[in-house]
Amino acid sequence: MGISRRGFLKLAGATTGAALFADFNVAGPVRAYAMELPIKGAKETPTICPYCSVGCGQIAHARDGKLINLEGDPDHPISLGRLCPKGSATYELTVNERRQNKVLYRAPNSPKWEEKDLSWAMDRIAQKYKETRDASFVETDADGNRVNQTRGITWIGSACCDNEETYLFAKLARSTGLVYFEHQARI
Ligand code: SF4
Repeated sequence: MGISRRGFLKLAGATTGAALFADFNVAGPVRAYAMELPIKGAKETPTICPYCSVGCGQIAHARDGKLINLEGDPDHPISLGRLCPKGSATYELTVNERRQNKVLYRAPNSPKWEEKDLSWAMDRIAQKYKETRDASFVETDADGNRVNQTRGITWIGSACCDNEETYLFAKLARSTGLVYFEHQARI
């Protein structure tokens, strides 16, 4: 029996569709079971993404006291299981070996980085912050109005900071008179 080109394409399409359908039917449960395995038996704790005020729901899976998986919570009324790229990467906060966890300091005009203690870095930042604030603080504007502004420091917030950190940073910046206060997400 001869078959036209159009007939052949129709037949090929129908065969492929049937094969795909069969694949979904057979592989679906198998695939779902395979995806379950890494978290099988793990302790499941619903939590909230720490990053922004949208407050998307997450489920943390832990085994032997160690986080092994973190994903969107499908039962969460706000996010329905979805997470933005930042929220999706929350798991990496605890496991990514490439995270920098030592303080590196490069002195003015130096070509090389030195490792420093965190307490050394904190003291240094606080000292520089205070010095710069005192040097650039303005009590009144040109018309004599009290403004109490620190104009020598610019603060840029980071998308890596969570809600609580950002709240504290804002309090510190405002209470020390900063007016140039921005966030990287708005730049
Ligand atoms: S997942 Fe994204 S949008 Fe949702 S709370 Fe976290 S940072 Fe905000």
